[in-house]
Amino acid sequence: MCADWRVPLSDLDFDVEEEAAALRVLRGRWLTMGPEVEAFESEFAQLLGVRHALAVASATAALHLVYLALDAGPTDEIIQPGINFVAAANMTLAVGATPVFADIVGLAEPTISPREIEQRITARTKAVVVMHYGGFLCRMDEIATMCRDRGVALIEDACHAVGARYEGGAGGPLHNRMVGALGDVACFSFFSNKNLATGEGGMITTNRDDIAERLRLLRSHGMTALTWDRHKGHAASYDVRLHGYNYRLDELHAAIGRAQLRKLGRNNERRRALAALYTRYLQPLTGWTIPFAELEGDSAHHLMVLVAPDEESRQRVVDALRAERIQSSLHYPYVPGFSAFKRFDAGDGAHGRSFAQRTITLPLYPTMTAAQVEDVCAVIRAAAC
Ligand SMILES: *Cc1c(COP(=O)(O)O)cnc(C)c1O
Repeated sequence: MCADWRVPLSDLDFDVEEEAAALRVLRGRWLTMGPEVEAFESEFAQLLGVRHALAVASATAALHLVYLALDAGPTDEIIQPGINFVAAANMTLAVGATPVFADIVGLAEPTISPREIEQRITARTKAVVVMHYGGFLCRMDEIATMCRDRGVALIEDACHAVGARYEGGAGGPLHNRMVGALGDVACFSFFSNKNLATGEGGMITTNRDDIAERLRLLRSHGMTALTWDRHKGHAASYDVRLHGYNYRLDELHAAIGRAQLRKLGRNNERRRALAALYTRYLQPLTGWTIPFAELEGDSAHHLMVLVAPDEESRQRVVDALRAERIQSSLHYPYVPGFSAFKRFDAGDGAHGRSFAQRTITLPLYPTMTAAQVEDVCAVIRAAAC
């Protein structure tokens, strides 16, 4: 949290539990993949109802590993949303594959459009990446059916949606499943501003044994046994089965992650209550849109986002917030608009371009108070019209 902001965009909910977790590791004198990572993985898997959870260094590392585990390479295309953090696109280039950008559904639903995916699937499509924007779920029934019918892997970039449940698709196979269990494989981030924060860190979840096995090897140099296994006397030597990386998570981060995991349900509920308060104060603003406000369903409420009627109104509100020392942000600039991605197919991307020009991310974090929400909304309402 920056001291200059009266209301920051996000803030950590760290207290004695995270401190105790860190001390436990320091005193235990085992720093790399060990009991904390093992426990974090199994607790995470249990919460999500998935067979495998693999802790990694970051979500970017997770995405890289997942593309590698799926064997994505130079002849492959990976369909992904134009409104996203750039990691999914960067890692596409890292494995030599081609990103193909699909537009979002609309300004009120800034998640990848199933119709756009359908138009872009070809024989070269290796995978579709969906991103549950702000913690709100993508149209998973339609997308999962399409991917299954076309033999394309479905990857969840679940960085915004840890702890969210899919309430859509009543009667269908995905109904009531947790985010992270809705596709072939999912990537989570524990970066400082995420709902579950450890500083750096991430998790990959999957129900597929074949993917999990490859991920496990790729995460740690392609080696068949880890230092921890040898320490426990389970293995004396090892083989290297494929060329891998070092994308492991360490014990300190895992221990902090476990403390954060225990607070996740409560903190996501707190986010929900604050988001509802925002919606109540901001709903009467004519011409402005609160994405997902009209949609039912669960969310991890990672972001509180407001879409302005035009770019000028957006700037007016951003300036007014800054003058009051209230931090705001933009999630996200349009990825195919970046120099590194301009040459890739994105169709016209009309909704994504417009969303990136008009959207504002407002402060939202579990320790925020109702009075702070009221304060932020008063500034917006005065500047909006
Ligand atoms: C944070 C984030 C990432 C990257 O996560 P890191 O752990 O920082 O690598 C990727 N995608 C989305 C949607 C994110 O929000």
